[in-house]
Amino acid sequence: MSRSLKEGEVEELKSKADIYSVVSNYVKLKKTGRNYTGLCPFHKEKTPSFTVDTSKQLYHCFGCGEGGDLINFVEKIENIEFIEAIEFLAKKIGYNLKYNYSGSKESSKLKSRLVELNELAKKYFNFILFNSKKGLPSLNYLKNRGFDEKTLKEFEVGFSLDSWNSFANFAKKRGYKPEEMIGCGLAIKSNRGSGEIYDRFRGRIMFPIEDIVGKTIGFGGRVISTMSKTGGQEAKYINTPETRLYSKSKNIYRIFQAKNHIVKEDEVLIVEGYTDVMALYQSGIKNVVASLGTALTSDQVKLLGRFTKNIVLVFDSDTAGMNASLKGVERLREYNEQLDLYYENNLDIRVAILEEGYDPADFIFKKGKEIFATKIKNAVNIIDFTIDAIIKKYNIGSLAGKLKASDHLIRFISTLSSSIIQGECIKNVAEKLNLKESLLLEEMLKKEYDHKKRAVRWDKDYDIEKKESVNENIIPLKRIEVEALKLVINGLGDRIDELLSLGPDYFRFEDTRQLYLIIRNEISRVREDNKKVNFPLKITSGAIENEDVKKLYNYILFSESHFKNQNISLVSNEIINNLKGIRISEEIEKIRKKMIEYEKNKNAGSDIKNKEAASKYDELYRRLIELEKEKMNLRIL
Ligand SMILES: [Zn+2]
Repeated sequence: MSRSLKEGEVEELKSKADIYSVVSNYVKLKKTGRNYTGLCPFHKEKTPSFTVDTSKQLYHCFGCGEGGDLINFVEKIENIEFIEAIEFLAKKIGYNLKYNYSGSKESSKLKSRLVELNELAKKYFNFILFNSKKGLPSLNYLKNRGFDEKTLKEFEVGFSLDSWNSFANFAKKRGYKPEEMIGCGLAIKSNRGSGEIYDRFRGRIMFPIEDIVGKTIGFGGRVISTMSKTGGQEAKYINTPETRLYSKSKNIYRIFQAKNHIVKEDEVLIVEGYTDVMALYQSGIKNVVASLGTALTSDQVKLLGRFTKNIVLVFDSDTAGMNASLKGVERLREYNEQLDLYYENNLDIRVAILEEGYDPADFIFKKGKEIFATKIKNAVNIIDFTIDAIIKKYNIGSLAGKLKASDHLIRFISTLSSSIIQGECIKNVAEKLNLKESLLLEEMLKKEYDHKKRAVRWDKDYDIEKKESVNENIIPLKRIEVEALKLVINGLGDRIDELLSLGPDYFRFEDTRQLYLIIRNEISRVREDNKKVNFPLKITSGAIENEDVKKLYNYILFSESHFKNQNISLVSNEIINNLKGIRISEEIEKIRKKMIEYEKNKNAGSDIKNKEAASKYDELYRRLIELEKEKMNLRIL
């Protein structure tokens, strides 16, 4: 089903709405002659240059040049799009927009009925909270938590009676059908048959959830006591299920009211609970919304991205994974899994952690706005945060702890798709764990083979633990070198000559380097005799003296079958790239150290010496950039 506005509807709406009454909700207007003037809401000014001409139904600001008709004004001031501005205005003046339907008309009509029903429910729940004896305990609970009546009314908080059908009966009397009540998630079909229904929300504090133009599309319900007459509702929160109107992956709690504040602050705070939003709002922090129990989805990112690229997740300490609590790690993992999505949309996601035992609502009420603002200011990028959280889980004072931590971290970093960010993370981790960057990088490259995003999984048959029992203790950095030797000895792939021309410097272990040299000599000896090289390469036992090298050679002959059924040119590509990548990383590391030295001795010598040092520094820097580029190219290939 899709729909479009009937022709003339925009004009019809504009003729019914009055620019003065709408604008005056936002700007204090004063009659000056034929027009009205006020302080412009679109730029900062002290003398009014914002003018509304009611006869033309237009506005104009002589200060900043902003101007247009009523719909344009609503688009601007509410930060919404044209069609949303129309819906917003229609709702505001109670006009029923008429649509053309290219699908079922019924379905779209039903949708507006469901919105009406939700609006009715909102008023009903709200009335009970503020005007009935049954609502009083909840009202007192909220007040005791620190909420004042003004805030509660602004948030249109309500209470659903602890009864099976009080709302259903109320709605029925107003002409709503059971299907409609089920359709918007307010009622549940009874399994006792005969079309009976009962209320979904019973004995709960009710928070209405609105869409981007302010239409009520669902509810969140929170119990204050787990003892309910109608029983079985222990869950602290329940929400409207997925309906025609409401989807927890598309909507964001309070986005309608927060969007202008988000634009103004160029930042949005995301908290977990409805009461957290309310508490921050009451304390004057209004660029705040709640995710509806999920990490940000692509729809939510799209929606938020209209207003800001800067997101701060506000976690209380229990949910932050600081104590490695299950929930916290889980929540971070959810967000981290979506990092690609966030980067694609240029979102900067940071994490702010509150002290132990406080959720955002408690925190702001007890500690105040200033301290809270500091926490937000000190929020840490989600990747850095995750790295720190992982490190905290291990005792990195011990070698075993350090290895465990680095393994866990590499697993995390290898899931990030941007190689630039991966590189940054590796650098960061190397510093924190005091490990060699090249070592971590090599480990990560290996882990990446396992990553599901690899187009070709050449590791399919490549289970080190199972298959390499011959040489279980082979250390990770060495493995790449051994793989390269395997290629040459078995004559696999089309880049053997390239491998042979790399030189022994690419092999940093005594046995791999020796074997490499032996192989190279053997091959060139055969070629000099104008003979064909036969693979696997047979090396006469006399040619290998060293026991370790002998063992390694035998091991490689033994494990030949690992590359069976694999795209060998991809395999050799990976191996050569890794060899080069590790070498480049080491060189980068050396240059960095040299640069740091130069930096330290800056201005220590004579002018001539300083000049020499500066040019040497520049040279190193250029080389560093070249190497970084080379490294990047290797990763992209
Ligand atoms: Zn202006």
